[in-house]
Amino acid sequence: MTIQPLPVPTKIYGGEGLISYATRHATRNGTSVEEIERALTHSGAILMPRRRQSPEREQAWRELGALHHSAFSTPQEFHGVEVTDRPLCRRCTNGTRGTGRLPRMGWVCIRHRRWFGTPQHNIHALPELAAAERHYRRVLVPRGALVGSPIMDMARECAIVGIGQGVRSHRARRAGISDPDLLAYPETVKVARLITSPAFNTRMLQPGLDPSRRHEEALRVMASLFSEDEDNESWRAAHRIAAIFNSIAREIGKRASTELPQSTETSDTRLATAWTTRGK
Ligand SMILES: [Zn+2]
Repeated sequence: MTIQPLPVPTKIYGGEGLISYATRHATRNGTSVEEIERALTHSGAILMPRRRQSPEREQAWRELGALHHSAFSTPQEFHGVEVTDRPLCRRCTNGTRGTGRLPRMGWVCIRHRRWFGTPQHNIHALPELAAAERHYRRVLVPRGALVGSPIMDMARECAIVGIGQGVRSHRARRAGISDPDLLAYPETVKVARLITSPAFNTRMLQPGLDPSRRHEEALRVMASLFSEDEDNESWRAAHRIAAIFNSIAREIGKRASTELPQSTETSDTRLATAWTTRGK
């Protein structure tokens, strides 16, 4: 049976999820998701499954909203990494609250120069954040370093402990914002690019490398990464990087001693496996 669209149309936003859209669409039509779904079930139009997210429910809401068949089709996984559901940019949604999956975006809406973490902020005064976002999309997304992934969490922690007071307060003053994640976003992206770089991983994970050499290498690269920032504490970030790579190296060593060597495995696959292991 075909379901008629609700009288008041509701635009769907890029990446928006079913629950978010259904809630907004029902509200705009002066009713609730539950009422609409109950009515559909009573009329026999559809047998609503209990699960909130299901193909039947998605199809019903596509018809209720007269939406394109590609609506609600953003994958839940991208490059083998879970895509988190998060608030959309409030400028993109004309001020309404919506959530969705945006696997190709970091934390900045470049179009609106807006930080869309929680809370959201106007970042016109911080062009370095939009520049970092471009690097994020071009380099980190293809490497599977998605928002909410262990790699990005690790990079953010390193950036926050390594960034100097001078750079942080200068940004905070320019934008009138004190959110530490936002202020350290350029460094977060830099650290994430480094720790996902195949060359750096090859150096840090070469077989038999002594942990002290690994630590020296981490100190060297972190000092250069934060070099423009005179009072930086790059050694703090280096400690964390060395610790995580020591842990990955131990994991690889353990596997090598229990499994047959996998000569066809590329360094990228090995890295991804190691990081996935680390994230669990
Ligand atoms: Zn936007």
